Amino acid sequence: MNYKPIIARVVKQLENFNNCGEVADYISELRLVDPHKFGIHLTTIKNKQYSFGDAHEKFSIQSIAKVLSLVLAFKLENNHLWKRVGVEPSGTSFNSLAQLELDGGIPRNPLINSGAIVICDVLISHLKNPKKDFIEFVRKVSGIETIDYCPRIAESEKLTGYRNTALVNLMKAYNNIHNDIDEIMDFYFNLCSIEMTCQELSQTFLFLANHGICPATQEKIISKSKSKRINAIMQSCGFYDEAGEFAFKVGLPGKSGVGGGIVAIYPHKYSIAVWSPKLNKKGNSTKGVQFLELFTTETQTSIF
Ligand code: GLN
Repeated sequence: MNYKPIIARVVKQLENFNNCGEVADYISELRLVDPHKFGIHLTTIKNKQYSFGDAHEKFSIQSIAKVLSLVLAFKLENNHLWKRVGVEPSGTSFNSLAQLELDGGIPRNPLINSGAIVICDVLISHLKNPKKDFIEFVRKVSGIETIDYCPRIAESEKLTGYRNTALVNLMKAYNNIHNDIDEIMDFYFNLCSIEMTCQELSQTFLFLANHGICPATQEKIISKSKSKRINAIMQSCGFYDEAGEFAFKVGLPGKSGVGGGIVAIYPHKYSIAVWSPKLNKKGNSTKGVQFLELFTTETQTSIF
C-alpha cells in the first residue's frame, strides 16, 4: 500500500481539528516544548518509509521507553517477572497510588509508573552497569548508535518526582523493591528521558511488528511468543485509563508518553510514530490519537 497520499489526506482533514489540551507541565523541561510540533513517520517491515512534518526532530519519548525496559526484563526473567508485576489494565492514571495499596504493592501492569519502576529494579538486579547496558540494548534494537538519555530532562523530572518517589517507597514497604531506591529512581528518570525522532521511534518498534525480529538486521530481539505478549500488554495497558478508547478508536497495540509521542504497530506490516505535544486529560497526545484514528480507518489497518 502507498501510505503517502493517505497520510497527506488525513493531515488535511486535521487542519481544522480543535487540538485542545496542554503540554505536560509537571516536568518543567517539557513545558518548554513548542505545542504546535507535529510529526509522523511510518516504517514498513520491508523498509519503506513515509514521513510528515517534524518527523526528524528529537523529543522526549517518556513512557514509551517503558516498553523497551519491559522487553529486556521479560527476556532476562521470563515468566518469573509476573510475580512482581501484573498484566491487567489499570483503569487509573499512570501515576496513581491508590491501586498499589489495594494490591499489596504489586503494580497492575509494567506500563504504568509503578510497574515501570519495578521493571527498573529488576533490570538493576540483572545488569552490571544498568544505565549503560540498557541504552546499548536500545541502540541495538533500533540500529541507531546516537540514541541517548537526556540528562537535562532526567534531572528536571527528579526535582518534581514526588509521586514516583511515593510509589517506590510504598512498593518497598511491601517488599517488592530489592535495590537502592535512589539508584532505581535515577535509572527510571533516565529511562523516561530518552529522546528519539518519529523516524527513530517507528524504526525501533518494528521488531514488535515482525515476531520479535528486527527486519533490517534479522536479529532476534525476543522470541515470537514474548513479542506477542508485549503487544498484548501494549494493547490493553499502553494508554493508561484510555486504553479501551484507544482500542475502540484506533485498534492497534501502542504506547504513549507525556512528551506527546505515540507509537503503534500493525503486526506483519508497519510501525508508526506520531508526535504532537498537547495532551488530553488522560495524558495522551490529543492530535496523535485523532490522527491515528483517521489513519487506521482510511487504511483499514485496525487489528480488529
Ligand atoms: N516520566 C513520566 C513520569 O514518571 C512518564 C509519564 C508518562 O509518560 N506517562 O511521570
